[in-house]
Amino acid sequence: MADKVKAGCELSIVVPVYNEQQNLQRLFEEIKKVVNTLQISWEIIFADDGSSDDSWATIQTLNRQNRVVKGVRLARNFGHQYALFAGLRHARGRAVVTMDGDLQHPPHLIAELVKEWHKGFAIVHTIRQDPADYSLLKKITSKIYYRIFTFCSGVNIQPGMADFRLLDRSVLDEVLQFKEAGLFLRGIVQWVGFNSTAVRYQATRRSEGKSGYSWKKMLRLGWDGISSFSVIPLRIATAVGLLTSVVAFSGILYAFYSKFVSGTAIPGWASSVAIISFLLGVLFILIGIIGEYVGRILIEVMNRPRYIIAEYCNDEGETLQTSAEVEWSQIESQPDHLA
Ligand code: UDP
Ligand code: MG
Repeated sequence: MADKVKAGCELSIVVPVYNEQQNLQRLFEEIKKVVNTLQISWEIIFADDGSSDDSWATIQTLNRQNRVVKGVRLARNFGHQYALFAGLRHARGRAVVTMDGDLQHPPHLIAELVKEWHKGFAIVHTIRQDPADYSLLKKITSKIYYRIFTFCSGVNIQPGMADFRLLDRSVLDEVLQFKEAGLFLRGIVQWVGFNSTAVRYQATRRSEGKSGYSWKKMLRLGWDGISSFSVIPLRIATAVGLLTSVVAFSGILYAFYSKFVSGTAIPGWASSVAIISFLLGVLFILIGIIGEYVGRILIEVMNRPRYIIAEYCNDEGETLQTSAEVEWSQIESQPDHLA
């Protein structure tokens, strides 16, 4: 597969960017300092996820000043996972490191990731140790989520494993084959296998700006993760349906017993109304879960592009529109906007 990579380099670094204008310059300087000590050829690809600040202008400036800097700009905010994927498709390295643009993923760790890669590991994960002052709610919800995810999918993701990791080209080429619309890269990377290791690091607060991950986006990502790796929620729905049917049936038997055998039937409607509304509630939840999967099937069947690339900065320091992208990239059988 490696021959697919034209004019490749040793290491690609892919950074999804959403309103990170204040962080980009510093992030680039810090990464450059670390990678220069490694003495390997490299490139950095900023994937601008439709930022509304000056992130793209900053990326263009960095691109004009440094040949290692490249950029792609998505036509709007498609989401972190899609920006990452767009960046990954343009990576030409023999290994690729993905990391956030807010300096929460410490650049000095790149050296350690590369060291592990040189030892022969195809995937080098990172595991974040949360700082003591990190939001308790986020800590607890993420722990519970990964437990549920692992239970449902059988794919083991540890809390603290995010999209900061190194992938060997062999793994990256497999990951790029995934065509689903509800992308959950951390699940996909675990799912494909290969030999892996992990390094731990202490998380810090984001350098500047504010988090681009709203609760809504986080819930979306969470559900994409579970629904793309498991149908267990549907089985749970069936089990809950069976259980409530058994309870309801026992209620009916009891009603007959009270009326005809013990003769102690209570002329009340409250209990029946309670049971009926309870059962209806359960029913709607079950229909909702099924509906979520049907919705997902619709989205997958439509097979729309997962994201649209508006512009990119190439290695000549030029910014071009997508129409010319095929010529620039030359590494893909398919232009990115058809991805
Ligand atoms: N990001 C993105 N698109 C989005 C939201 C975030 O590309 O819609 C990027 C963001 O610029 C950063 C990374 O994804 O590089 C992680 O996002 P963020 O730091 O906002 O999330 P948090 O660390 O708060 O979970
Ligand atoms: Mg962050």
